[in-house]
Amino acid sequence: MHPYQVKIGTQVKLSEIDPNDQSLFPKLTKKNYFKALEKLNTQLESLQELLFAQGKHRVLVVLQAMDTAGKDGTIRSVFDGVNPLGVKVASFKKPTPDELAHDYLWRVHPYVPGNGELVIFNRSHYEDVLVVRVHNLVPPEKWSKRYEHINAFEEMLVDEGTTILKFFLHIDKDEQKARLEERLKEPSKQWKFAVGDLDERKRWDDYMQAYEAVLEKTSKKHAPWFIIPANRKWYRNLVISQILVDTLTSLNMEYPAPAPGLENIVVE
Ligand code: ATP
Ligand code: MG
Repeated sequence: MHPYQVKIGTQVKLSEIDPNDQSLFPKLTKKNYFKALEKLNTQLESLQELLFAQGKHRVLVVLQAMDTAGKDGTIRSVFDGVNPLGVKVASFKKPTPDELAHDYLWRVHPYVPGNGELVIFNRSHYEDVLVVRVHNLVPPEKWSKRYEHINAFEEMLVDEGTTILKFFLHIDKDEQKARLEERLKEPSKQWKFAVGDLDERKRWDDYMQAYEAVLEKTSKKHAPWFIIPANRKWYRNLVISQILVDTLTSLNMEYPAPAPGLENIVVE
């Protein structure tokens, strides 16, 4: 099992997990990092092409994190170079009135990957047991049942041919402070600063508790959670890229067999 995979049925204490850990790539220099990432990007590109060509497997990547933890940066770096034809990103923001008029999985299901597709959920149905729980948007009797629904939903997707990987980008509160300050003073980053992020920051401990519940209750063999040390962006990118490459490799995909008689065709 991968060292960052959440073991089923164990207690998770995020305060005891080091967001600066770099034990999987201990001696990497910046120059080597770019080389290593480029190599993984190339591997991922080929694997995704194969996924698309074979049109058999479906891959769902779920990204969850606190503000500034790097969901966007991860998507940019890890999927650099993949063919946009077969990769889609679905971002889940505050639900619309129409979405709120339905069950919470209603808006999610249409975006799950089809055959040959890789879909990245930038936030996800997990918001309905995170922000919703922290802000009491629905009563506890309601959100507390959702872990089971989510497990059943994901199990169904897996039974029907989807591979699910879920990544929690783990930064600490000091790192978030530094990144928010950077957004405030760097003109090219100011557009990313949202005053609302400060309100969420005040609820950091509540969020950590809500994340711990998610990680404990919904990491399954068929749909594991990985807690990715994410204070260092390069490390986060390498670890996630490597997990994706390893997982896609383990699918043992093959290009579809050529149509019969192809060897006799002459292109004039
Ligand atoms: P970025 O800030 O990097 O652009 P983001 O994912 O934070 O990305 P925002 O538009 O800033 O995007 O925030 C989306 C907000 O929508 C988050 O605060 C999130 O908690 C909230 N949200 C997502 N799903 C739900 C939900 N089901 N119920 C209530 N709020 C939700
Ligand atoms: Mg935001």
